[in-house]
This record gives sequence, structure tokens and C-alpha cells, in this order.
Amino acid sequence: MKKITVIFSSAFLLVIAFGIAIIVSCLICLDFFGTNTIDSYVEDNMAYADNYKKVLNKNIENGYIPLERILYFYLAKDNLSFSEIYNDNLDLDLKRMKPITEVCSQINYKNLSVCFSDELKLSGQQTEYQNKPFGKPVDFSKVTITSFFMEQRIVFGNYDVHTAWDLACPAQTEVYAVCDGIIEKVSFPYSENVTDISGGGGNQIVLKCNVEDKIYQVTYAHLFPNSSTVKENDTVKKGQILGGTGTTGYSTGNHLHYQVSSDNKNVDGMSLIDFSDNVYEQ
Ligand SMILES: [Zn+2]
Repeated sequence: MKKITVIFSSAFLLVIAFGIAIIVSCLICLDFFGTNTIDSYVEDNMAYADNYKKVLNKNIENGYIPLERILYFYLAKDNLSFSEIYNDNLDLDLKRMKPITEVCSQINYKNLSVCFSDELKLSGQQTEYQNKPFGKPVDFSKVTITSFFMEQRIVFGNYDVHTAWDLACPAQTEVYAVCDGIIEKVSFPYSENVTDISGGGGNQIVLKCNVEDKIYQVTYAHLFPNSSTVKENDTVKKGQILGGTGTTGYSTGNHLHYQVSSDNKNVDGMSLIDFSDNVYEQ
């Protein structure tokens, strides 16, 4: 009888422990403990992605505000639209993001808890103007943003996290060197402007540059066949035409896949662009 009770109570404890484990994991999923970052809040949330792209496509020539910054305020005050928050965070004269302390001094944000100094310190939000060493990779008036940096999406039925920006535009739209640098790679295996789902980035150019003691690798992918104006080891100037857009490789239509990395880490290439800089080769 005693043995049966022990077995019974062990089984009971096991069921309780299992139940607690399920409840705790559900709470973690629902961010009950507040451990989730803004990034994971956005996970699988196509509505945020669509909203953000809509606002970006309307505003991108005026400057760039990352999704993280918009969500930071949106989650604290959701009666403001993405569009309002974008505009409130943009310095129209300098065409760049305002320092967060300046945004927090504005009437819409003044009393938000996310603007208290402790919260600001922990948030990692920029307090100073960002460095903007790059020029534009393409004429933004000619493009539609179809995928942003770190967007979670489904392409050809497969889930992926996009580590670059996709800028849709007509075939053979010029692409520019975003910085002074050296052409590290020119790979043009496609002689026709066609999609190949096993073809990765298709025709590509990789530009390497050293800006303010940081080395960046900039990849221009899915380029149009035979459009490269450069070869490996060429020295190029910021704004120089490198080639034209296409849809070669793993691509659903003509666009520029603009990808930046530094120290083997993916970097938000849009956050490096000086939108007030309009110097291009004609
Ligand atoms: Zn892409």
C-alpha cells in the first residue's frame, strides 16, 4: 500500500512539474517576464513589417529611422501611428534620426516611461547623431522597399531572416559605390536575367571599404547580366556606377539586394547612409 502511494504521489508530482513547465513556457512566450526584446516582439509579425515598409517607402528620401526606434515608442504609446512616430524621429533638415533625448523632449513623448533616463540608458537607443559615412547604393526615388534588414519573411515557401535590404526597381537601374574602396569580388555567372532558386545572390559585386577605422563589405546582388562596369581589385570612388539591377539567382523580380557586413557581422546598411549626400556621377 505504501509503495503504491509513493508511486502515485511521484506520478502526481511529475504531472504538477510538467504542468508548471508548460505554464512557464507559455508565459515566456507571451513575454510575461518582460525578457523579450523589441526584435522578438516583431517576430513573425507581418503586420508590423508591412506597416514599416509603407512608411519607409513614403519617407526614405528624407532620411532613415530603424524599425526598432519606431517600435520603442509605438509599444509605449500605440495611439500614435508608425507614420507619426517616423516623422517625429526625423530631423528633416539633416535628413537623419534625431537623438533620442531630443525626441523625448517633444510633447508626444515627454511623460512616457520609456523616456525616463534609466530606461533610456538600458535601451541602447542612440543618444547622439549617428555616423553616416555611406552614399546611396541606388537612387531611392526609383525603388520600392520590399524587404528590410532582419525582416522575417517567406520566399518561395521558405522562411528566412533577411540580412540585407531589397530595393525593387526596373531592370538595369544603376547601382553606386556607397564608399571609396576596392572591388573585392565580381561574379557574373548568369548571362540571362532569370530567377534561379538554387542560384543564391546571382550576379554579384562585393565592395570593400575602410571608413573611420572600420572595414565594411558591401554586397550588391542579383545584378543584370554583363552590367558590371568594374573588375576585381579596381579602386572605386563613392557614387561611382558599378552595374545595373536585375533578377538573377534567388530573386522574385528585378531589385537590388544591398547587404553590408563588418567583422563578419551583418550591419543595417541603411543606417550608414547619409541621406543629405546627393553627389553622384551622372
Ligand atoms: Zn535580398
